[in-house]
Amino acid sequence: MKTNEESIGHRIEAPSHGLVLLIDDDPTVAEALHLMLENEDDLRMHYCSDASTALDVAAKLRPTVILLDMVMPDISGLMLLRYLRVGEFSRSVPVIALSMKDDAKLKADVFNAGGNDYLIKLPEPVELLARIRYHSDCYIRLLQRNEAFKALDVSQRKLAESNIKLQQLASMDGLTGIPNRRTFQETIQTEWERVTDSGKPLSLIMMDIDCFKKCNDHYGHQYGDEVLRKVAKAMESIIEQKSDMLARFGGEEFIALLPGKDVDSAAKFGEKLRQAVESLKLENVESEVCEQVTISLGVSSCVPSTKNVYPEQLIKCADEALYEAKVNGRNRVVKFGDSSIS
Ligand code: GH3
Ligand code: MG
Ligand code: MG
Repeated sequence: MKTNEESIGHRIEAPSHGLVLLIDDDPTVAEALHLMLENEDDLRMHYCSDASTALDVAAKLRPTVILLDMVMPDISGLMLLRYLRVGEFSRSVPVIALSMKDDAKLKADVFNAGGNDYLIKLPEPVELLARIRYHSDCYIRLLQRNEAFKALDVSQRKLAESNIKLQQLASMDGLTGIPNRRTFQETIQTEWERVTDSGKPLSLIMMDIDCFKKCNDHYGHQYGDEVLRKVAKAMESIIEQKSDMLARFGGEEFIALLPGKDVDSAAKFGEKLRQAVESLKLENVESEVCEQVTISLGVSSCVPSTKNVYPEQLIKCADEALYEAKVNGRNRVVKFGDSSIS
């Protein structure tokens, strides 16, 4: 046992050893306890003879068990127990009441006030030691459990955060930073179900950069990547509604999902996208269209109902319209079923 004034101050939350705080005005009790704990390596002791400083000492020292004399000159042990029970650092520290008498009323008061044990002064060393150890160990285990819960909570929160980040990463296209094809497929399915039988239209625009292979061949792949990034950014910046979605469908193909827009307003929006890309004036001197990067667009639209087409068919229609745009000269918007230039 080490008597340790030096242990006053900051202590880790779950100590590796028990620390007994004796609050008693009688120094002979302190001496007896000191002798009892002398050879117990897992227990340390601190003696406080002045009850008026006991609360401060308990707060600083963070004992794992308190032995509390019931009769002291300035304050009764019972009153001090009540104060200990509302102290931030002492409210759950086990308290063993030490009394000269086996008083049933006092005993009841001690337990009602939150005391954990009641002993007649001074019990046999073997009994006192056993009780001190029992209460101290329980308290240390409580602190350890609290620490473990706290650590678990922190790691669970970190795990949840990294899962969200992972999900975000998995849903985005690495090159352009816009949603990827998988996210698009999930979104169109959800939107489809949401608007089915609501009477509202759902439109798609499939877009493809014109003569992009020539762009790559002439300027290099890195320039091609830069074109993809800039085209995606320009188109994304003019997305009109929160529910509209632009995604990279693959390679130099993009797709826009436009819930609530009918075929004509979708085609109008497609024209805005076309102009936005054209106005970037990104060089593509080998293009068959002009000397800048352009896109071709195919628009399809339907009013989803349980009786009609599926999302895959709507995508296929937009793709067919895009093909029409390509064969009709590129750099234009074509509505499905209408090969005229919009
Ligand atoms: P069209 O006007 O008919 O669409 O002609 P195109 O040359 O654009 O079409 P094609 O399908 O022949 O070529 C597409 C090119 O896009 C070929 C491929 O190397 C390039 N590409 C696909 N993905 C990427 C990418 O992530 N980065 C770069 N730099 N190029 C890509
Ligand atoms: Mg292309
Ligand atoms: Mg292509």
